[in-house]
Amino acid sequence: MTTQQLNGVALPNEDGFFGEYGGQFIPPHLKIAMDEINVAYEEIRQQPEFIQELKDLFQYYVGRPSPLFHAKRLSEKLGGAQIYLKREDLNHTGAHKINHCLGEALLAKYMGKSKVIAETGAGQHGVALATACALVGIPCEIHMGQVDIEKEHPNVVKMKILGAKLVAVTRGTATLKDAVDSAFEEYLNDPENYIYAIGSVVGPHPFPKMVRDFQSIIGEEIKQQSQQQFGKLPDYIVACVGGGSNAIGAFTAFLADDAVQLVGVEPSGHGLDTDKHSATLTLGKPSQIHGMACYVLEDESGEPLPVHSIASGLDYPGVGPQHSYLKDVGRVQYDVASDQECLDAYMTLSRVEGIIPALESAHAVAWAIRTAGNLSSDINIVINLSGRGDKDADYVAEKLGL
Ligand SMILES: *Cc1c(COP(=O)(O)O)cnc(C)c1O
Repeated sequence: MTTQQLNGVALPNEDGFFGEYGGQFIPPHLKIAMDEINVAYEEIRQQPEFIQELKDLFQYYVGRPSPLFHAKRLSEKLGGAQIYLKREDLNHTGAHKINHCLGEALLAKYMGKSKVIAETGAGQHGVALATACALVGIPCEIHMGQVDIEKEHPNVVKMKILGAKLVAVTRGTATLKDAVDSAFEEYLNDPENYIYAIGSVVGPHPFPKMVRDFQSIIGEEIKQQSQQQFGKLPDYIVACVGGGSNAIGAFTAFLADDAVQLVGVEPSGHGLDTDKHSATLTLGKPSQIHGMACYVLEDESGEPLPVHSIASGLDYPGVGPQHSYLKDVGRVQYDVASDQECLDAYMTLSRVEGIIPALESAHAVAWAIRTAGNLSSDINIVINLSGRGDKDADYVAEKLGL
């Protein structure tokens, strides 16, 4: 974990800016709390005990390194580039989120916090955080909209089993946005003793930096594994982008390797010409949301637009500030995949490789399926398979009439 730079620009600078994006667009009392977290994080991340504890947890608890798997049958079927899968779906709890949740829970412990607070939409972040807090032995409080609670029964019971206190939010539309407000209010009751654990590379500084650092293990492993398995760096690394944590985790180790093409895939949902998509970097514009400057999908009056994706983990009208910067400087290419392409990719990977991907990850798979046939067989594409698709199986089966 070193300070990240690209062409002499610090990512982020001391004020938490990635170029013109990021920062802290928050009230002064919250800025004080965030600055304290930043100072503590910068201290703790140098401590040998913290580094060793996180390293051991990654290895013995999460099961890292996650394998880099050569999808030979899929590569053959597509008749072009070789496809490799970075198997974040094999992590304990079934996705990449455990990487930063463990980091945040450990940070809370080292800072002597008495409670970790977060919101959750579909419940994926809530379950990963409840898991990490159970392990570290720190109380965890998850705020979730009543509407989401009714939709996401398996995740709700998992959080309860793991010992998290679940707060049902009934105000407003009783969904994610209201859960964020509610969780933040609770946090502000005692920012001295509580810590807010953000679920992606978003929100005010230092969260985009911290969550990125905890996730960057993904790309570090890809770098080693690709050298071992095919003797060079990948030609392409592709990942889905919601807030952007799994993508930035896969990209970070390669930012200075210009020959490695980095591709982030956003949901075009029902189509970019409809109002049912979540393609923030593709169609949004620079603005502010949730305490940071970044690309945002918003209406003329500056209100965030309702967004849609078949993958609930990707429907967010903002995006990580570092992704916003990497788009502007052209280091990462951002493309889209539609709901239908994702369903097709979900089924194809399941039937050709016996691996059921999360609908989120299926966006990256869909991009590779669309692209591989146009490339020669000595080109390697690494797909960051951010999570497993068991959670989506009932939905897909119903959708396809299976
Ligand atoms: C939450 C989630 C995502 C989206 O979050 P990012 O921060 O964009 O990575 C992607 N894949 C899976 C499996 C998830 O659970």
